[in-house]
Amino acid sequence: MKLDALVFGAHPDDAEIGMGGTIALLTSKNKKVGVADLTLGEMGTRGSAAERKLESENASRILRLSARINLKLPDGKLEVKDSYKRKIVSLIRFHKPELIFAPHQNDRHPDHTAAGRLVKEAMFLSGAAKYATEYRGKEQISFRPAKLFYYMMSYPFTPAFIVDITDSFDTKMKAIKTYKTQFYNPKSKEPETFISDPKFLNFIEARSGFYGFLIRKPHGEAFYSEEALELDLINLLNK
Ligand SMILES: [Zn+2]
Repeated sequence: MKLDALVFGAHPDDAEIGMGGTIALLTSKNKKVGVADLTLGEMGTRGSAAERKLESENASRILRLSARINLKLPDGKLEVKDSYKRKIVSLIRFHKPELIFAPHQNDRHPDHTAAGRLVKEAMFLSGAAKYATEYRGKEQISFRPAKLFYYMMSYPFTPAFIVDITDSFDTKMKAIKTYKTQFYNPKSKEPETFISDPKFLNFIEARSGFYGFLIRKPHGEAFYSEEALELDLINLLNK
């Protein structure tokens, strides 16, 4: 299926945390968005892979995703290697998204760092005609998406742009909260983690308010681009 945007995450819930508001905004305008989780999150401290699968299906419904894929690469062991890149290239060539998103390459979690690097290299290879791949037994032709943008996980960065997610902020929080095993749950007897701290959801909300304020909106999500972005000055002046 042809997608407008394909969002890569290292673990189920990365896409929701980093850019759930932007995803919900795009799908509310009838854009086709898919999320590809590189791993099942089986190394996570809390919740089993089966529980996390069910949670991501529920979150996908809330975000109105057109596709949710899991590449089942090994959690906790993501690294830049050809066999992993090849799987990502196949997916890009199959869905032909104009926009690709990945976690920012500088992050406290090594899987997020690796995911950002893997997707960047795979995006380049996807456009290389002589890099042969197949998907479901069919040979593929090269495809180069228009843009790769990085979303924010643990570490802040100076954004290349900020998306106004005021209208989709509630949907984002609803999608995040479907990951019941990962976040604060007073009944859970599982060990506490960085994101199960009850203050984590406050942090997500505060960050959304912070980046929103930078563009004078109630809520925003920040993105990074390695490439320079064009700004249409005439359009800006005619507003
Ligand atoms: Zn993650």
